[in-house]
This record gives sequence, C-alpha cells and structure tokens, in this order.
Amino acid sequence: MARKLIMFGCDYCKELRKTDKGIKNHEAKCFLNPATRSCLTCKSFHKGRGDLVDQRRTRECKKLINLSECLYTDCTNWEEKNEDDF
Ligand SMILES: [Zn+2]
Repeated sequence: MARKLIMFGCDYCKELRKTDKGIKNHEAKCFLNPATRSCLTCKSFHKGRGDLVDQRRTRECKKLINLSECLYTDCTNWEEKNEDDF
C-alpha cells in the first residue's frame, strides 16, 4: 500500500525535500536560483553539447573560467542572463 507524502519543491529546479527548512537550505545553494550567482544562471555560461560526459567537457565560460572540474556558485564574474539567452 502506497503512502501519500507531502514534499516541498524547489522554486528553481525539480529538487524535493521533506521539510520546508530542507528546501530552503537547498534553494540557498541551488544552481538555478539567480541569487546564488551560479554558472547555470550566468550570461557567460555555455552549456556543452552531447551526453552528460561530453557536456562536462565542452561547457564553457565566456570569462574563461575553467569549468571542466565543476561549476561555480557565488562567482564574482556572474552576470544575469537575459530571458532571450535561454
Ligand atoms: Zn533547486
């Protein structure tokens, strides 16, 4: 018998948490929350092509920050992406 659960969802991505506090902690560092100034919401970020491994290798930052290891949060070069850039 399945149980009905109440979950809290992130306003920016598909992440779910069991508690309001849990989702607030997530949102505070969510890559898709513009307030975190992360790569995924930055004007300079270009998503790579291909499968996940290729995307990791081909993703680029116009400010020439090396993104092959990880993406960044709270970047000093962060600039808000225009709606048109999506
Ligand atoms: Zn999120």
